[in-house]
Amino acid sequence: MSRPPRFAGKVAIVTGASTGLGPVMARMLVEEGAMVVMAARRLEMVAAEAEAIGPDAIAVQADVTNEADVIAMVGAAMSRWGQVDILLNNAAVPGTDKFIWEQTVDNFLDTYKVDCMAAMLCSKAVLNASMLERKSGAIVNFSSGAGWDGLVRKSHYSAAKGALRVLTKVIAKEVGEFGIRCNCVVPGAIETELMVNYMKRIAGEKGVTPEEIKAGLTGTVALRTFSTTEDVANLALFLASDEARTITGQSINVDGGQVMS
Ligand code: NAD
Repeated sequence: MSRPPRFAGKVAIVTGASTGLGPVMARMLVEEGAMVVMAARRLEMVAAEAEAIGPDAIAVQADVTNEADVIAMVGAAMSRWGQVDILLNNAAVPGTDKFIWEQTVDNFLDTYKVDCMAAMLCSKAVLNASMLERKSGAIVNFSSGAGWDGLVRKSHYSAAKGALRVLTKVIAKEVGEFGIRCNCVVPGAIETELMVNYMKRIAGEKGVTPEEIKAGLTGTVALRTFSTTEDVANLALFLASDEARTITGQSINVDGGQVMS
């Protein structure tokens, strides 16, 4: 007997939905029955992708560090579909690489605002608009392996992504009694177009093959491979689904076994 799609009747919001993991998750959610708001800083960046997915996806402009934009983003989901069941806090920036002795307040705080504070703003908005009243919902945050041990020249990014895991626990503790869950996906390097181009560029500079560069980078990964966007999306969608109904406050690595915490 076939089971109904995992996300039938569910409404999801994906932030930072114009590049990388965001559009992949939006498409997979719709394929499994969801209706999805794809939010991006610039509407034109996400409008075509939403249209290609079909009527179950809409594009919305939202800078996730701007509370008015965030409230309007959630309002768009509410006016179109009347509820929000899933929030994927995917938007992020890498900031500018700097040693700690070069670090600036602007670089540190601008990164923190997108990579941590925005998850607070978006969670607050979906909780107040829908989840608390309906006593259900799932929030998924996106940290990084950098948020465990820290990356050199990335104090801004590492600190924000580490803080996001603690924010995940606090949200989980506060909303658990209302039947709402909050978890965190912790990817290692993801093999996106950006990563492939980076490996090609470095290979060219060093006069070696991109495969050799990849082997060097994956040398410390137990499975000797990067994750694809689909690998990371699979974990995020599992955590957003009812299959994970008793999992909350967790940060789960999807990194080929790079970090074993
Ligand atoms: P990406 O850069 O392709 O996507 C992030 C999106 O967020 C971009 O489209 C960007 O425009 C958007 N964004 C940035 N600031 C925003 C703002 N203020 N408001 C709204 N949107 C904003 O990154 P990705 O590779 O798809 O990564 C997805 C998630 O996974 C991110 O949270 C990232 O930190 C995390 N992650 C990625 C990797 C990797 O190797 N790509 C590794 C570890 C963690």
